[in-house]
Amino acid sequence: MRLILMGPPGAGKGTQAKYVAEHFGIPAISTGDIFRANVSQGTPLGVEAKRYMDAGEYVPDEVTNRMVRNRIDEDDAAPGFLLDGYPRTVAQVSELDQMIEATGHRLDAAVVLTVDAEELVQRLLARAQTEGRADDTEEVIRRRQEVYTEQTEPLIDVYRSRGLLVEVDGMGEVDEVTQRVFAALDVLPSS
Ligand code: ADP
Repeated sequence: MRLILMGPPGAGKGTQAKYVAEHFGIPAISTGDIFRANVSQGTPLGVEAKRYMDAGEYVPDEVTNRMVRNRIDEDDAAPGFLLDGYPRTVAQVSELDQMIEATGHRLDAAVVLTVDAEELVQRLLARAQTEGRADDTEEVIRRRQEVYTEQTEPLIDVYRSRGLLVEVDGMGEVDEVTQRVFAALDVLPSS
């Protein structure tokens, strides 16, 4: 199973990614988490990524693509994977296409979580209180939303036109959303 999970900042991608990946027995690969791990370890990748992340901008495609390619090449991703936060640009879409084609597989679905704009801001501000992420300040949140609208929202149409888009209502309780994702993927949770 090869899935991508899309949605604006605050839509709950990271939360849902874990449940969905676990259900299918595949790794959840979050570009944001990998960048943050590199930032906290002070690696050269982290030093480069931090400049962009702190400003709410995307890390350059070349850097992000190389990182995802390396991660997908790891053994645990051979049976499949769920990508959380990648692709986010049109250029990343073609890069991912090549990575998947090279393994002789195909993408199964692009799940997009939809959440009201007001609710998104509330969730991110709440997360700022509890997690203290450097990019969860009001100004940076606003910039991340703009960048999402400009660069990532167009990807929804790309995947729709390929017949791969699965739209899921991301409002409500975490568990309700998870159940909707399973239902949308036409898979019943095992428990
Ligand atoms: P959110 O979706 O809540 O904004 P993430 O944790 O997914 O946050 O990502 C945090 C930051 O990491 C992004 O604002 C961006 O700077 C960087 N990032 C993550 N994924 C990508 C990507 N695919 N391309 C470029 N930059 C990315």
